[in-house]
Amino acid sequence: MEFRNRRVTVMGLGRFDGGVAAVRFLSERGAKVTVTDLRSEAELAESIQRLSDVPIKRWRLGEHDESDFTRADFVVVNPAVRRDHPLLLAAEDSGAVLTSEMNLFWSHHRGRVIGVTGSNGKSTTAAIIHAILSETDHTVRLGGNIGQSLLSEVDAIGANDWTVLELSSFQLHDLDRLQVSPEIAVVTNFSPNHLDWHEHLTDYREAKQTILRWQSADDRAVLNDDDADVRNWPVHGRRIGFSPEISDEPLLEALRLPGQHNRANALAAITAMRCVDGVTDAAIRRGLEKFPGLPHRLEFVVESQGRRFFNDSLATTPESAIAAIQSFDDPIVLILGGSDKGIDLTQLAEVAAKRAKAVALIGRTATQLQTLLDRTSRSLPMRVCSSLAEAVSFACEESLVGDVVLLSPGCASYDWFRDFADRGEQFRQLAKHADFPN
Ligand code: ADP
Repeated sequence: MEFRNRRVTVMGLGRFDGGVAAVRFLSERGAKVTVTDLRSEAELAESIQRLSDVPIKRWRLGEHDESDFTRADFVVVNPAVRRDHPLLLAAEDSGAVLTSEMNLFWSHHRGRVIGVTGSNGKSTTAAIIHAILSETDHTVRLGGNIGQSLLSEVDAIGANDWTVLELSSFQLHDLDRLQVSPEIAVVTNFSPNHLDWHEHLTDYREAKQTILRWQSADDRAVLNDDDADVRNWPVHGRRIGFSPEISDEPLLEALRLPGQHNRANALAAITAMRCVDGVTDAAIRRGLEKFPGLPHRLEFVVESQGRRFFNDSLATTPESAIAAIQSFDDPIVLILGGSDKGIDLTQLAEVAAKRAKAVALIGRTATQLQTLLDRTSRSLPMRVCSSLAEAVSFACEESLVGDVVLLSPGCASYDWFRDFADRGEQFRQLAKHADFPN
């Protein structure tokens, strides 16, 4: 792709790495870059600061202007923007090529790729694969949806280097335009999720299946055989199933993370690693042993007055919160709830009623969860809270020595917090300064 003197509009600079990396990448290649974002200059201050040395033709912040789209040769779209956005349709009608940070990476790298997708466990699985490959002679990088853009390193990636990419359904949807799939594709599981974006389950599934769609016969498809949906996905490469429920894989003993779901993630990673030359069992063991877990995913925060606080702020779906709740044998005081994605929370409420000793409810789904909890057969102490601080105080009141205080909201964070990391960080601070009644 040639960008010299081409007009490129980056839609959605965002506050994460991807938008900033795309702008820098395009500018270095001589593109005339317009950056547009509905957020204001103040809201984007950090990202703008990171681009202070980059020549940018036009900033259009706090609004979009159709001319930036109809006159562009390329539009680089943030993963969070709907692909049927009227401005994107207008851009396409005027002949612009739509692309994304991930598509730019994919079009320019020369190395080998292991892609990981699924509804839950993508980041953990990708990070475990990276940890294991780091114990071998291979050169390996980790990127994609996990937060860090690899665009700035793309020219340094050699033909034999491995890149582990966590791929969201949004990114996969865009990759379909390029008709590419990774050499090794890992699918952890599949469940209805993000339905406010993908509206239809079929679209969501088809986006995810891009990870397999363009594989060639020698590529590997590593699929979760316990998942009733994934089990039936069409495969074009060599199919290698893994089955967390019946696996007796001895290397799993080396894993330090709690929870059955993390065993499933590790098994996915081990299975993928057996497809790569030069990865020994010893390297797999070392990788598993050294892997500390990722922040905000069942992350141990502090033990205070005999209560152990765990931050699982990244559990933004009912399934992930259920997985977290089921990871503990000790009594749990649970902090649950968040913004409303229109997902059915009945099963989450049932598991919470069964396993928790008390529940603090937060966010927009709090009253809905309260109604669902009331409907279960068990009556347990609960409170609809008006702040996270109130929820932590309630947890302190209701917990005893030996209990677990778990923030695993099962919902997104955008009602009360900037994002999941903000929610998790606030919880960390509150937990570290928790006050207990006498
Ligand atoms: P993703 O990248 O798909 O969002 P993560 O690895 O970041 O997944 O994990 C996020 C949360 O999802 C974890 O804190 C955990 O509660 C839950 N989770 C992780 N792996 C699984 C799994 N295999 N099945 C169900 N839930 C999971």
